[in-house]
Amino acid sequence: MSDSTLYDIVELGDPRLRVLALPVDLTRLQEALEVVQAMESRMQERGGVGIAAPQIGVGQQIMIIASKPNARYPDAPHMKPMVMFNPVPFNYSDHKVTLWEGCLSVPGIRGKVTRSDSVSVRYADNTGKLQEIRLDGFPARIFLHEYDHLVGKTFVDRVDSVTDLVTDKVYFKQMSTSVS
Ligand SMILES: [Zn+2]
Repeated sequence: MSDSTLYDIVELGDPRLRVLALPVDLTRLQEALEVVQAMESRMQERGGVGIAAPQIGVGQQIMIIASKPNARYPDAPHMKPMVMFNPVPFNYSDHKVTLWEGCLSVPGIRGKVTRSDSVSVRYADNTGKLQEIRLDGFPARIFLHEYDHLVGKTFVDRVDSVTDLVTDKVYFKQMSTSVS
């Protein structure tokens, strides 16, 4: 792999999106933080609200959740970006919500996906310290989307029907129709 493609966004169909990510060795935190930095750059360049390491070709259990409004997600709430190493979800809420999702690895496509509205997570933070948090609403949605990347899935695997897949162009047209 040449340097110019190192840490490029990996797209749907690439086998690196299908592997089970391995736990981060927290005794080698510096190396993991270098991956985090590359992930952050890619996420910001592309207007993402979250990213998982397999999306830049790194098969490790690392994700960033960073909800904020932007052109791709105009209604996203502001939150301080969270880095999670080795996240383990538990206590998925029975209450589920169906929403449109996009993905940096599936450019130009949105899919309607049903997920729990809240979930608890145990993880190590960017200093290697173990944490536990309850996520609700959009941050929970981002977490569950990114967690899928750590187990070799994308949102395309989660849609009930192929009719729940649309292009960004159609999606934004529908959005503007629904608010007018
Ligand atoms: Zn994604």
